[in-house]
Amino acid sequence: MKIYLDGNFVEKEDAKVSVYDHGLLYGDGVFEGIRAYDGVVFKLEEHIERLYDSADSIAMKIPASKVEMEEIVIETLKSNNLKDAYIRLVVTRGVGDLGLDPRKCPKATIFCIAENMKPLLGEDGIKVITSSIRRLPVDVLNPAVKSLNYLNSILAKIQANYAGVDEAFLLDSEGYVAEGTGDNVFVIKNGKIKTPPLSSSVLKGITRDTVVDLAKEAGYTIIEEKMTLHDLFVADEIFITGTAAELIHVVEIDGRIINNGKLGPVTKDLSDRFKEIRSKIGKKYIE
Ligand code: PMP
Repeated sequence: MKIYLDGNFVEKEDAKVSVYDHGLLYGDGVFEGIRAYDGVVFKLEEHIERLYDSADSIAMKIPASKVEMEEIVIETLKSNNLKDAYIRLVVTRGVGDLGLDPRKCPKATIFCIAENMKPLLGEDGIKVITSSIRRLPVDVLNPAVKSLNYLNSILAKIQANYAGVDEAFLLDSEGYVAEGTGDNVFVIKNGKIKTPPLSSSVLKGITRDTVVDLAKEAGYTIIEEKMTLHDLFVADEIFITGTAAELIHVVEIDGRIINNGKLGPVTKDLSDRFKEIRSKIGKKYIE
């Protein structure tokens, strides 16, 4: 397996960063999780844009152009002969001293890992709890920044683990539904689809945006609206979206069974539409 690290392709055993890298010492860095389907990198440009937005927000300069970053992803896939893959593209603040001041880190570190991953749709659905850990407020560390510091999500995931369920939803600081630990939330009620707005402490998910577009094209009413737990408890269907998750339906939320524990018609329709387009939108790198 070849990993891209600061201009070179190295074997997994040699893909090492310094213990003085602030990405490790402080979670000071940004990243993207990206998928490739059948030789096409799904929405690569959008992922690179979001990576740059995350970096700009934390005043970190990525030492490569957007086009070069796209090439890094594609070269990593090609070096590993991967047609279907999960890709992790990371930019850390780089090597500094033990103080947190980023001015001590002259150059950001870039690495890219690509692993084989077949599409995983059509699962049995997931059980979810609401975490008592609130999602970071937008005025503390905006969840729009896909930073390396995932402790907020990890604490919620630990609660889900203790509760014996698959995933946890976090509420925002005002008590409105925000998102899952690594995914966005959608609710269907009376044929209408809702997802929390960006002001509810959510990442602007690329799968979220794709599903919104697909739903509009299919003629559904889809709106961004603040939601409470009540909206989840009375939902006809709930599903999550994410690069790794794609679309997965929720069968249980805080002990309440959703849609008799079955995949609902709207989720199925959107999931089928997603499967249809996922290898068609993005950057083709294998003919
Ligand atoms: N929210 C969080 C906290 C995430 O980590 C992710 C995964 N990147 C998402 C939402 C979904 O975003 P995307 O569809 O771009 O993967």
